[in-house]
Amino acid sequence: MTTTPSAARSNVEATLIAALGDAVSTAPERLDAFVADTYWPALHAAAAGTPLARPDIVVRPRTEDEVAEVVAIANEHRTPVVPWGGGSGTQGGCLPIRGGIVIDLCGLDQILAIDERSMTVTAQAGVNGRRLEAELNARGLMFPHYPASVEWATVGGYIAARGSGVLSTRYGKIEDLLLSLRVATPAGGLMDTVAVPRHAVGPELTQLFVGSEGTLGVITSATLQLVPVPAERRFAAVSFPSIAAGTDAIRRTLQLGHRPSVVRMYDDVATQLTFAPVVGEELSGVYTVFAFEGEAEAAQLEERRTLELATEAGATVLDPALGRRWWDRRYDFYHPPHNPELPSIWGTLDVVATYDRIQAVYDALHSAVREPYADIGLELRMHFSHWYLWGTMIYGRFVVPDGGPDALALHDRIWEDGMTAALDAGGVMNDHHGVGIKLGPYMRRQHGAALDTMRQIKAALDPNGVMNPGKMGL
Ligand SMILES: Cc1cc2nc3c(=O)[nH]c(=O)nc-3n(C[C@H](O)[C@H](O)[C@H](O)COP(=O)(O)OP(=O)(O)OC[C@H]3O[C@@H](n4cnc5c(N)ncnc54)[C@H](O)[C@@H]3O)c2cc1C
Repeated sequence: MTTTPSAARSNVEATLIAALGDAVSTAPERLDAFVADTYWPALHAAAAGTPLARPDIVVRPRTEDEVAEVVAIANEHRTPVVPWGGGSGTQGGCLPIRGGIVIDLCGLDQILAIDERSMTVTAQAGVNGRRLEAELNARGLMFPHYPASVEWATVGGYIAARGSGVLSTRYGKIEDLLLSLRVATPAGGLMDTVAVPRHAVGPELTQLFVGSEGTLGVITSATLQLVPVPAERRFAAVSFPSIAAGTDAIRRTLQLGHRPSVVRMYDDVATQLTFAPVVGEELSGVYTVFAFEGEAEAAQLEERRTLELATEAGATVLDPALGRRWWDRRYDFYHPPHNPELPSIWGTLDVVATYDRIQAVYDALHSAVREPYADIGLELRMHFSHWYLWGTMIYGRFVVPDGGPDALALHDRIWEDGMTAALDAGGVMNDHHGVGIKLGPYMRRQHGAALDTMRQIKAALDPNGVMNPGKMGL
């Protein structure tokens, strides 16, 4: 007997219902909730009534074992299965572009254990970022991963998209804050990785799943590093004479061993269009906010040395109240009236590079995106917000006020020009937003032959290709 696609679908549905009961839904209004994350083409298509993706079935498991069951059923029936956390991703990563099953992970919302001695928390994948933070703060602890999307994103999404938060310069990205995880793979059942991230018992499997965006398995829980809520958090603001002067001063500061928690340097356009409206003053120049935290004396020393090095590089030290105001209003950037809305086109060219290349990457984005599209009103606001011993990243937010009838083609052309310029200048195409659909076409250019190795790993873990198919260029 031949099985038609719709018969196959009802087979899967029946098997899922037998296993998970009312956790399974095919109600149209439920399916409609999973047609767009925050990827611009997905929002654009959904607004036009022609969504890029729609699942056939949504399952909201209540336990980690149920997640493993869903993955096993999907694998057995050769049906696509796509993990969905908070849906705040910007790359189209959680869109079910080939239909199939969406696993809504928000039912896995348990904080399982807090170890105050080792300062770790074990949380299920669907725990919301804001809630996790509130519960930890009540105990004098914090999880120092504060993405601007903290109110929507989940623990699983943080890890799967290899994200970063505003305090990353001191505490690291998500991969630095992760000890271990539990994951459901098509091979069957749940797998725990080694309990600590530093060991010599073979290759590090925890990190294999960081940034895998649901293409290798579904993360069901994770153990994360905490820190105490700092005794003191101090702010400073300076204006550098140029991007080059600022980059060099901050490089020296970090390489001397200082660890400001926030380092956010806006170029002149971003100072005028993003920083100034939010802090409520008319400003121009290379405005930079720092925060220093921890024990009071140590934070004061870091502040003093950072400002000395900035001054040596020609910076003007400004009223620290500007830094504090920026901190208090830092999420305003993502809410009306500051956030763009359709029919605008927007996107974030998020590029990372070593210090020897970062200026070239900045200049390349300027020449490839800011200048050529200025006549259609494009604004490219660039800031540098996550700093490392070896380099930094550029967050290049572009907005075109009205995309017009060919908005999608224009969107794709801006990305193509931006990515080509950044890669040619020696940049790596993403620091913390992930790949999804958006950057899949650039994975060969980014990785060369290493993409084949990734595909071999994918084929070994997911031989039937059911895990989030069509993503990451895999
Ligand atoms: C306004 C705004 C600001 C943002 N700011 C930041 C920022 O400061 N820093 C930052 O890093 N990102 C930021 N982002 C991007 C996004 O919020 C992050 O990538 C976030 O980590 C995604 O989490 P999520 O739970 O919403 O994941 P989703 O969007 O649901 O999914 C993202 C990807 O991860 C996969 N996935 C989700 N959960 C799991 C799981 N349990 N197991 C396996 N795969 C899974 C999905 O299939 C998808 O591929 C921002 C987004 C917005 C809209």
